[in-house]
Amino acid sequence: MALLFVGVFLFALVIAPNIKESLEKSLLGEGYVKFTSDKFIIWYHKETYSAQRIAEIVQSLENFVSDFRLQMRNHGIKIPPLATCTIYLLRSHKHLKKFGMQMEVADMSNNGGYFSPSTYSIALTNDDLHGLYHETTHLLFSTASTAEAHLPPWLNEGFAQHNEPFPEKPVLQPIEYLPSIETIVAFRESEFSMLENPLKYAASLYLLEFLLSREDTRKCVYETLAEALTHPNASILGIFRKHGLDLTRLNRAFTRFYTGK
Ligand SMILES: [Zn+2]
Repeated sequence: MALLFVGVFLFALVIAPNIKESLEKSLLGEGYVKFTSDKFIIWYHKETYSAQRIAEIVQSLENFVSDFRLQMRNHGIKIPPLATCTIYLLRSHKHLKKFGMQMEVADMSNNGGYFSPSTYSIALTNDDLHGLYHETTHLLFSTASTAEAHLPPWLNEGFAQHNEPFPEKPVLQPIEYLPSIETIVAFRESEFSMLENPLKYAASLYLLEFLLSREDTRKCVYETLAEALTHPNASILGIFRKHGLDLTRLNRAFTRFYTGK
């Protein structure tokens, strides 16, 4: 029994991490090195960044994590501390696609990057630093979710983009057609794809930023989020109704907010 215990202990602590690391090394290829901090392990190519730059990137990401947890806590949403997450910064999108598939992360055909809850890792191309904040938002929400909970995609993707730190968000092209609130909150996860459908991302972000700009609807956003992190099928429309908000009026205000009409 004691021997079995020692065996399991050795496997978990020494052997399993080594297997993981040699798998990572073989999939990453030549020139990739590892930087380890409190909450993150970052694999990057040594020709793309200096260790000092990576340290700065990780520091700002860790600051973002604490700020976001605090912001959520102020709205009554508790995000538990993160386990160490591995981040892979790959040199090309082609490599990212192949890497994602070899790591057995579902369908990589359209993804510009991913957070995978099953491998607790994030993968991106090395020039996609705003994506780090995007995927880390997914990581934080996934840490706060119960197993059966399911965040509405518009809310998950809306917050992920809202947290990207750069003023020029790549998906924020001028939007010619602004869908109704009902249409946006009904988007399905399979309809999102960074490379093929920027409209869904833009519409989700627009809706979130509009709702956060008003006191009455801001409350509804956080209430929906809290509900969605613990229960399946939370819908903001029901929460609007509960607060006596008129959807027709909200839709008009939403259009006016972006078009001035
Ligand atoms: Zn996303």
